[in-house]
Amino acid sequence: MARKWVYLFKEGNANMRELLGGKGANLAEMTNIGLPVPQGFTITTEACTQYYEDGREINDEIMGQITEHIAKMEEITGKKFGDKENPLLVSVRSGARASMPGMMDTILNLGLNEDVVGVLADKSGNPRWAWDCYRRFIQMYSDVVMEVSKSEFEKLIDAKKVEKGVKQDVELTAEDLHDLAEQFKAKYKEALGQDFPTDPKEQLYGAIKAVFRSWDNPRANVYRRDNDIPYSWGTAVNVQSMAFGNMGDDCGTGVAFTRDPATGNKGLFGEFLTNAQGEDVVAGVRTPMKISEMADKFPEAFDEFQKVCKTLEDHYRDMQDMEFTVEHGKLYMLQTRNGKRTAQAALKIACDLVDEGMRSEKEAVAMIDPRNLDTLLHPQFDPAAIKKATPLGKGLGASPGAACGKVVFTADDAEAWAARGEKVVLVRLETSPEDITGMKSSEGILTVRGGMTSHAAVVARGMGECCVSGCGDIIMDEENKKFDLNGKTFHEGDFISIDGTTGNIYEGKIPTVDASIAGEFGRIMDWADKYRKLGVRTNADTPTDAKKARELGAQGIGLCRTEHMFFDPERIEAFREMICSDTVEEREEALAKIEPYQQEDFKQLFEAMEGDPVTIRFLDPPLHEFVPTTEDEIAKLATKKGKTVEQIKAIISGLHEFNPMMGHRGCRLTVTYPEIAVMQTQAVIRAAIEVQKAHADWNLVPEIMIPLVGELKEYKFVKDIVVKVADEEIAKAGIKLEYEVGTMIEIPRACITADEIAKEADFFCFGTNDLTQMTFGFSRDDAGKFLNSYYDNKIYEQDPFAKLDQKGVGKLMDTALKLGRPANAKLHCGICGEHGGDPSSVEFCHKIGLDYVSCSPFRVPVARLAAAQAAISESCK
Ligand code: PEP
Ligand code: MG
Repeated sequence: MARKWVYLFKEGNANMRELLGGKGANLAEMTNIGLPVPQGFTITTEACTQYYEDGREINDEIMGQITEHIAKMEEITGKKFGDKENPLLVSVRSGARASMPGMMDTILNLGLNEDVVGVLADKSGNPRWAWDCYRRFIQMYSDVVMEVSKSEFEKLIDAKKVEKGVKQDVELTAEDLHDLAEQFKAKYKEALGQDFPTDPKEQLYGAIKAVFRSWDNPRANVYRRDNDIPYSWGTAVNVQSMAFGNMGDDCGTGVAFTRDPATGNKGLFGEFLTNAQGEDVVAGVRTPMKISEMADKFPEAFDEFQKVCKTLEDHYRDMQDMEFTVEHGKLYMLQTRNGKRTAQAALKIACDLVDEGMRSEKEAVAMIDPRNLDTLLHPQFDPAAIKKATPLGKGLGASPGAACGKVVFTADDAEAWAARGEKVVLVRLETSPEDITGMKSSEGILTVRGGMTSHAAVVARGMGECCVSGCGDIIMDEENKKFDLNGKTFHEGDFISIDGTTGNIYEGKIPTVDASIAGEFGRIMDWADKYRKLGVRTNADTPTDAKKARELGAQGIGLCRTEHMFFDPERIEAFREMICSDTVEEREEALAKIEPYQQEDFKQLFEAMEGDPVTIRFLDPPLHEFVPTTEDEIAKLATKKGKTVEQIKAIISGLHEFNPMMGHRGCRLTVTYPEIAVMQTQAVIRAAIEVQKAHADWNLVPEIMIPLVGELKEYKFVKDIVVKVADEEIAKAGIKLEYEVGTMIEIPRACITADEIAKEADFFCFGTNDLTQMTFGFSRDDAGKFLNSYYDNKIYEQDPFAKLDQKGVGKLMDTALKLGRPANAKLHCGICGEHGGDPSSVEFCHKIGLDYVSCSPFRVPVARLAAAQAAISESCK
């Protein structure tokens, strides 16, 4: 039997969302529970996918079923397309599985032509309404189906209003609208060289195709990427008989929520317009009234509407967002869906639903979108101000929050300007570890280069600071302290505003509002902790980050990048002396200067985590990242080392690598310079001994992590050094202290030889930033330059550095676990790449059985919630 591509509303239900889309499934459900829904049919999401498979054509089988359902719809409604007595007019609307408000297209009043408009005018005794519908239809059809810009028609309307000396559309008469309809048709012919279609069926087929096509429009593609909606889902098309809100003053249309979507407070919230159609409310042409005023205008319909709201909220057990129309005093429901809401409202509604006995704790946890939590933890733009602003450009939303400040171009300037009380945004080609203090002093960071795991992105996320990275449209002139973005030149001191969630960049000042954690936050987090199985640790390099993460619920540190501790002015000098040493003794002398600093830092990290696990990763980046760049600094170092400036410059240029990310870094540094690992081991163990002595009730077990391992023997080489030094330190102290030595798994070779490595490792921690880089062969700092073409061509839908590539990188992780765990029953495994704070990646980590995820402090609540949702969804299966 042929596949069923089209369903009448009465044939579907709410569980058929995948096939009928959200709107279609809910129209069917409302029909089933007896609510007043204008009837129609839904063309499935599978038909959309088929349309694309067939080269953007609707095949004969689908076309046949659509035609069949038009006949059925005519029978149900008692109206007929193009009929002279009782003509059928329909709306055609998109409706994907996940709601994508405003992303795809809608057409109203379809079925009108010169004859039908006459019939409507006569029958209704309301020619103004009939012509208003017709001119709206021509306008929408031309725009959506034939891509003739809406503004062409708006200009004609404006000219008409001037001609008639009126201000509002509603003041135009039937004759004016008739005349406009004629003008619109002429405009259509002028633009397309053909007459406006008169056959309602032809109009309908055009409209259905246009909705399918809109699934692939640029704004829908961007929305899908931002909201994690796969392209393969497709959109359904809903064809529904029209109810008219524009037939006179006893008609109207509105949009309402059962609870306030901004605060979550219970109570009807929405807007209403008399004598209008849906798009008038959204378009803001006229100022709508508050929904409560509907009680005076249409008491009966309002009464019924309130009952419908209660029925729907009880039925869906969630806040509903509804569209409705009143035609001659009678209520019609056009749509219902679980309403979009702010993070604050989401928490309040979930808690209230539990208190009202509508939802269980588990369900409440599952209702919250973890990505939303970001907005609770970071400053945001003032909602009213941002609504009015138009972005000038866009980069990657690399670290959430909003920032507004004066443009500065160097980290030193950021620090100096901030010290005198200025708010600044640091704009750089890319940042480097030296910029840390300047980054900290800024409100936000904007970079031209770099992806989601670039230095700027990772460090900003760690600090909870807003960052937009990789805005390739910026033409940078750092030397002259200016840059161009889409035709606008910014100089030092000019105001700029950036949004680290969307990646949007705005000219000028947009006020921000501080983060506020609502009372319900703690309740939801407690419930999440009750149900999750994954541990949640944090990536923290400083005691301040560690304390913040602890406040946000981190159960330990999964990654401390020790190199971030070297950039303090005193430390960097000693480190540079180490790099420019000729002998082991010289190097040891320089390292001895750094050891006390590291020891003190580690001590504070152990203290902040109160005995919970702390994983300290040994030096990872290539040494060239630490060398001086200015003549002054080079000269200073030369004096210190008793060398000439030329000799220092020769050492620096000797560190140059063509591909530093795959060069002399990670454990390779220790293989060349074992004394670095000796110093770092001493610092870790000495700090642990001190803290353990001070807190006898803690069982401190420091975890030493070796980066970039690809071969057992190289790991063993470093481990042997660590064990020897650690055991010596412990023996010297005469104390009992356990410690662990483990490895990052961030090279594909380590994944496929994990059985060998596991025998010598106490733990594995997946460094999915490097693992992604090495698996794809994409530079983590440069991939942003070409990934957009991959999105445009539907090769990849997501940035693999932000969202774990489960198919490839994930398979390597799974392989490593399957090989590693049987080889070492005690092996514990986590992830500390940036994916550890991404909800869908956290879900994957749960599925493959990791013990914990580790992420930047501000993502800890996101990870806790995502981990709970993964466990809850598994337990429901
Ligand atoms: C990683 O590679 O995933 C990782 C955590 O280490 P880094 O980002 O410091 O290379
Ligand atoms: Mg790494």
